[in-house]
Amino acid sequence: MLTVDEALDRLRQGIRSTNVEPIDLADADGRVPATRDVVAAIDVPPFANSAMDGFAVRTSDGTEERRIVGESRAGGPAAPPVEPGTAVRVMTGAPIPDGADAVVPIEEATDEEGRLRVAKAPAPGAHVRRAALDVARGQTIELPAAPLSPSSIGLLAALGIGSLEVRRRPRVAILSTGDELRPVGSVLERGEIHDANAPALAAAVREAGGEAIVLERAPDDPAEIERRVDEAAGSADLLVASGGVSVGAHDHVRGVIERLGTLDFWRIAVQPGKPLAYGRIGGVPVIGLPGNPVSALVTFELFVRPMIRAMLGLAGDGRQRVQASVHERIGKDLPRRAYLRVRVERRGDEVTATATGGQGSSQLLPLATANGLLVVPEGVEATEPGACYEAILLGALA
Ligand code: AMP
Ligand code: MG
Repeated sequence: MLTVDEALDRLRQGIRSTNVEPIDLADADGRVPATRDVVAAIDVPPFANSAMDGFAVRTSDGTEERRIVGESRAGGPAAPPVEPGTAVRVMTGAPIPDGADAVVPIEEATDEEGRLRVAKAPAPGAHVRRAALDVARGQTIELPAAPLSPSSIGLLAALGIGSLEVRRRPRVAILSTGDELRPVGSVLERGEIHDANAPALAAAVREAGGEAIVLERAPDDPAEIERRVDEAAGSADLLVASGGVSVGAHDHVRGVIERLGTLDFWRIAVQPGKPLAYGRIGGVPVIGLPGNPVSALVTFELFVRPMIRAMLGLAGDGRQRVQASVHERIGKDLPRRAYLRVRVERRGDEVTATATGGQGSSQLLPLATANGLLVVPEGVEATEPGACYEAILLGALA
């Protein structure tokens, strides 16, 4: 059996990043820039402006009374210069008129019939946002190694960058296999279940930054599976199948990968999970995940999510990890590393993890209500009450 880390290393080998494509800034949220370095072509802000509504003054006038000679408003016409003994009314974001070197906020001044009185002498630069305060022209900005956030998009817009090159979203084909599966919306006959994996894995693909292409479900028929896999391998960057990957009489995914390409079949010391078929068909990586929905989603999280991110040029799984203490005994399979479904909460100074329900690999409800996967190492058969374990956060800390 491979360890989780060994399997992950092998899966990452030979992953190529997707090519780059230009995109309008308006469509760029969540996309990964092809290059993180951006050189500013302009100053931000482009000109010195007021941080407050108030009066632009010369600090050399001290506390003297000043004559108000005009107004500067954001986007308005040019204001007169501030000569000694004068002031100009300014609004937030309005250019600081020539001659002025500080702003007195409205709250700290009185304005009677065009005469301005200030309570105390303003300090040079007070409430003035100088040109290039945020970013200077020619400066190289390093964007975070992550999908573009609203704030990065705002920054690029402020810099006047209306389009940029991003990595193409990896196209991930998703195939559910199993005679018992029916699409959502079907009325189930005896022995049938809804296909939960296709919608769940498609969502997980999108969450990881990929484009999900859901293939028509395949029955447990090697010819049907082969037809879909063959077709998808021609257009996808990655193919993810679920179900039919074990050693049962009706498990055909491994055989299909073997016939169309090359197969590596692994048993991984992971719970839930264990059997995982991996191979390549015409250069396209193909992964066969176990059919049980929790196994499928957890193995996707551990193995497929990092592959999609690697194709986007992003390292790791992009998840936060915390140490959490456990106050119950949650059983697991002794030799395998377990990823238990837990609720991770901050309680005072302590971060705790509590099982969200049964840990069976078919039980989706406890996974759906979990915000973390608790990593319990190989060689133990249960969590030890009072001990701390690493938790991978799938969502925000509760
Ligand atoms: P298998 O890996 O094909 O042996 O399936 C293991 C278990 O997962 C069986 O109980 C299947 O019915 C179930 N299963 C397989 N595929 C899906 C799916 N797409 N949605 C929900 N359950 C599934
Ligand atoms: Mg099956």
